[in-house]
Amino acid sequence: MSEIEKVDILVVDDLPEKLLVYQSILEELGENLVTATSGAEALKLVLQRDFAVILLDVYMPQMDGFETAALIRTRKRSSHTPIIFITSYYDEVRTAKGYAHGAVDYIPAPVEPEILRAKVRVFAELFRMRRQIARQAEERAQRLAAEEAARQSAFLARASSVLSSSLDSETLLPGLARLAVPFLADLAVVCRADEAGCPGRTEWAWVTPDAEEASQARGLPLPTWVADALDRGFRAGKLRFMARIDPPAPSRAGNPSPERDGDHEPESPDFPVSSAMILPLVARGRTLGAVALGLGPSGRRYGPEDAPLAEDLIGRAAIALDNALLHRQILDADHRKTEFLSMLAHELRNPLAPIRNGVQVLRMLDLNEPLVIQVGEMIDRQTAHMARLVDDLLDISRITSGKIRLQPVPIDASAVVNSALEISRPLLESRRHQCILSLPQQGLRVMADPDRLAQVLANLLNNSAKYTKEDGRIWLSVDREGDEAVFRVRDTGIGIPAEMLSKVFDLFTQVDRSLDRSQGGLGIGLTLVRRLVEMHGGRVQATSAGPGLGSEFVVRLPAIIPVEHPEHPADNGATVERRAPASCRVLVVDDNVDAAESLAMLLRFNGHEVRLAFEGPGALDAAVEFLPELVLLDIGLPGMDGFEVARRLRMGSNGRKVLLVAMTGYSQEEYQRKSREAGFDYHLVKPVDPRVLEELLGQVGASHA
Ligand code: ADP
Repeated sequence: MSEIEKVDILVVDDLPEKLLVYQSILEELGENLVTATSGAEALKLVLQRDFAVILLDVYMPQMDGFETAALIRTRKRSSHTPIIFITSYYDEVRTAKGYAHGAVDYIPAPVEPEILRAKVRVFAELFRMRRQIARQAEERAQRLAAEEAARQSAFLARASSVLSSSLDSETLLPGLARLAVPFLADLAVVCRADEAGCPGRTEWAWVTPDAEEASQARGLPLPTWVADALDRGFRAGKLRFMARIDPPAPSRAGNPSPERDGDHEPESPDFPVSSAMILPLVARGRTLGAVALGLGPSGRRYGPEDAPLAEDLIGRAAIALDNALLHRQILDADHRKTEFLSMLAHELRNPLAPIRNGVQVLRMLDLNEPLVIQVGEMIDRQTAHMARLVDDLLDISRITSGKIRLQPVPIDASAVVNSALEISRPLLESRRHQCILSLPQQGLRVMADPDRLAQVLANLLNNSAKYTKEDGRIWLSVDREGDEAVFRVRDTGIGIPAEMLSKVFDLFTQVDRSLDRSQGGLGIGLTLVRRLVEMHGGRVQATSAGPGLGSEFVVRLPAIIPVEHPEHPADNGATVERRAPASCRVLVVDDNVDAAESLAMLLRFNGHEVRLAFEGPGALDAAVEFLPELVLLDIGLPGMDGFEVARRLRMGSNGRKVLLVAMTGYSQEEYQRKSREAGFDYHLVKPVDPRVLEELLGQVGASHA
């Protein structure tokens, strides 16, 4: 059992011997007995502690008991402390005076010990009880405050997680409105500031009658009191926190003229708002909007204690909204950059097509002038290289969005190495490097996109050429190790510090940015290498013994089990000869007259019958009259685009048989999908590789048989 807490009892008498008597009488109550020999002393004591009861002698020199009692009553702490007068002159007039001074009882002297004890005991018990109740009330209040604090922190934690879960303002703002109801408000209206800083789009949430769930709507007009407050705030150039607005007493919270949203017509909440606050959404000094919180059906009213929580929530929301807007800006800028790069590549490709076709025509003219042949080959090589560069440009934009598509075929690893060397030869030669090649004895084949794999190796070779002093040595080898084809590019160059070995594959990472720009690139080459190798199901690794000690890049790809009869890597000319196609009827459609005519020239040289059209309707007419077997159709035609032309061609009488080939500067997935949907059989990226063209014509020719 817990020990009973003692209470304090004050006994005031100017005679010490009387005090002794009271003490001995009251001792058996077991309470704390405090004594005072004057009114002044008693007054001092009541200022320091709370007494359960005060026993006061009426007759005392200087300040008598009545006077002392009156003063005790004036002190806040003792204004309700029970006072018992002890006097030997007990008459009615005096008694009345005592009661007027706040006495609760009288005890005539000489005191009857039993009576005194009984009365004091009653007041002691009463005091103990009151003290207990007060303590319990205080504990309850503290518990409630702690619970409320916990609820608020849980609410803010949930708010933070909701607000940080999305970087999209389209979901953030309705989420914010929903968060506030019903915890903070019966109605929440979130209003975005538009470009001009005026109230724009709104998001609403409000309690349903059963308060189980909140209703939500978008695009409802602002309640008049919110609109007025925002208008004033925005006009003053600064929207300030407005606590405890008392909205006029309309019957409804909003104006019920909502925007139609399909079949649903969202309704404004049907309750009056009796207490509200408006908080601006401010981040980095910019007002992004405002939030109006209102109370109505719950019967609550906002008080100053509600402001900190509301401000905390809205502050977090403003930061989240600011982040979402910044993220949007970055995405938009990135999207515009990708679009620009894609368009640039497209525009650069267009002039390449006629040049490439023209070179082919020159070759076929059978001019025996060695210089013409040499120059023709040089132009051919360079245009091919330029086409590759343009592709790289596209790759930069696509690499981040993972849009690069491979066209893997089984290929000979040595052939790829040769292609890569071909690409890198100009740089290797210009820097007078010695290139030591080591190829496998037996045919080693991998499943790879030949161009992309050559691009990977050429990138590594080019880097070795760039980062090795002139007259250096570069080894390029390919070997089979277990199930893998292992390509190694090693050099005697500047080497790579150990801490940079894994980082060099990150986008835009360069070990030494101060390098002469004619040597250094943009820091995208190795990112492309790694991404392409990984897309082939392989991996790439860099090693170096340190600065000045050269580097080695190792690419590992899954090998194809070698065939029994090693292939003779056929040169391209041989392929063309083997497949010498029969004459085909080809319709070439391109608004770029040079491109169309040069392609026609090339086809005619190969014995095909060619018709030209420079726009959609002309192509459709030609198709009816000429009945082409193959249509090479540019997509970017003025007026009716290539997709539409293809759809119509497919619907024509010859439409099912004709081989439809799209030619475009755009190789993105989206364009390829559109091509398929429009009925194209193939989607080729300009400039079209003559070998691919031969393949297509071979297909058509084969169907003649
Ligand atoms: P870039 O060559 O355009 O700067 P890369 O992505 O191809 O970009 O290479 C990234 C960085 O890795 C280079 O800037 C260079 O510092 C380092 N690096 C790449 N290859 C070599 C190499 N063979 N020897 C030394 N350093 C290299």
